[in-house]
Amino acid sequence: MKGKISTNVYIEKATHRLKLSNDLVDALMATDRTVTVTIPLRQKEKTTLFLGYRVQHNNYLGPYKGGLRFHPEVNLEEAEVLASLMTWKCALLGLPFGGAKGGLAVDPLSLSAPELEALTRAFVRAIADIIGPDKDVPAPDVGTGAREMGWIKDEFERISGESSPAVVTGKALEDGGSRGRNKATGEGGVAVLANIVNRLGLERENLTVAVQGFGNVGSFLSLGLEREGFKIVAISDVSGAVVHSGGLSARQTYKNMYEAKKELVAMCPCKKGDCSPRECKKLSNKELLEGDVDILIPAALGGQITKENAPKIKAKIVLEMANNPITPEGDAILEKRGVVVVPDILANAGGVTVSYFEWLQNKKEEVWGEKKVLDMLCEKMNKATDKVWQVHKDMKCSLREAAYVVAVKAIAK
Ligand code: NAD
Repeated sequence: MKGKISTNVYIEKATHRLKLSNDLVDALMATDRTVTVTIPLRQKEKTTLFLGYRVQHNNYLGPYKGGLRFHPEVNLEEAEVLASLMTWKCALLGLPFGGAKGGLAVDPLSLSAPELEALTRAFVRAIADIIGPDKDVPAPDVGTGAREMGWIKDEFERISGESSPAVVTGKALEDGGSRGRNKATGEGGVAVLANIVNRLGLERENLTVAVQGFGNVGSFLSLGLEREGFKIVAISDVSGAVVHSGGLSARQTYKNMYEAKKELVAMCPCKKGDCSPRECKKLSNKELLEGDVDILIPAALGGQITKENAPKIKAKIVLEMANNPITPEGDAILEKRGVVVVPDILANAGGVTVSYFEWLQNKKEEVWGEKKVLDMLCEKMNKATDKVWQVHKDMKCSLREAAYVVAVKAIAK
């Protein structure tokens, strides 16, 4: 198990600091269960087989919790890493959940909506025995959203014969979803970054920001950063990056992409509203990562900063909004260079925190307002950031190491 999960190097460091015994360290690093299923899907003239996975890493603190990803590159090895990150994230935030992850190796855009629904429901039937409100609670991830969570809830309820909205989170409001869930990961990241910037004694108005990815996480994060006075100068998505040294408007970018359905690289959403596309510089995602900014925010995919490009990163702060966007080798280089890395298990924990609020609302049959949800989120994110900062100061270690120390302590107490 130890060799398989690349991020276990962080657990090794944390457990070493905490002087835990070897047998306990091995137990913390092990994955409880991995399940692989083969799902046949009948299409018009053929039957296609799809591979599905559910990895349950650790449930010491409560039911397993973690997303389901629908993407052609979904695989067991990555799911194991992501499941373990969920364990540490929940422990760090003090949530009564363990860690899990899974998904289907499928390009959702290659299937019609009825085909995707049939495949999702068949996947639920294949894993129904190991999920449930008090066993394992899936959530959305890349390629899945409220629609898929609604299908999962419905299929699970059909099998169990009872109402079970708490079997998944990230549902639409009418299915028992929580207000504020769509903004939660982004808003959580804003709270963490504002806290860290204050502690570093920096003025946010003077800090330039580049955001990689403008999906659920990147868009709400950018809107929040703009509201809080940070200066966003570069934004990218899968099509490439736009850069304007005078500043980009997150609000205008959001409107253009999600309301006018314009492609990011075809626009220049500058502060004035919309500039001529020629006024924005166009860069590749690789160039965006190495750009001359104060704060770099990977909010798209894993493995973006490696030992190859880590020496070229110019940002002084990296906020990990994607899961595992920096490889352990890249992380070691950034640490040596004095770059402040705010780790994923802290920075993007806002999503699972509001998932917890959704699960609680379902269990108590309550419906909370958005303000209450976002205020509670902000409080939890600040509390976790304060704890991490304190350990970082006391142990004179990186924020990542400090975050793992807090998380491991919560489980190995
Ligand atoms: P999403 O599918 O909504 O958005 C992904 C974004 O990344 C899109 O803008 C897409 O164009 C962009 N992208 C895809 N390939 C890219 C590439 N090669 N280069 C640059 N950009 C690229 O996904 P999301 O929910 O925003 O999740 C983003 C990341 O955040 C993932 O790593 C996910 O695991 C992590 N995360 C998400 C949540 C959540 O609540 N959604 C919570 C915690 C962590």
